[in-house]
Amino acid sequence: MTSSKSNCGQCGSDKVKPEDFADELSRKEYSISLMCQRCQDVFFADVEDDGTEEMACPHCGSFSCYEVSDDDKLRCAFTGKEVDE
Ligand SMILES: [Zn+2]
Ligand SMILES: [Zn+2]
Repeated sequence: MTSSKSNCGQCGSDKVKPEDFADELSRKEYSISLMCQRCQDVFFADVEDDGTEEMACPHCGSFSCYEVSDDDKLRCAFTGKEVDE
């Protein structure tokens, strides 16, 4: 940790200004995680994307069993059952 108060711990930007943040919540998030507004946008957008990708298989509970069958349906590789997207 450096003594500088305006560094983003994520991208290293030294131009972090209070007025850059969208709202009080984002400023608070910066005081906790040291991420500038841009990094927060990317960070929380990523979390949402992962949410849909890392859906647990309803048949076996695995996160990586899916395979696409000939008729373009997602199937559980362990049970061969169809998985609804
Ligand atoms: Zn940043
Ligand atoms: Zn499965």
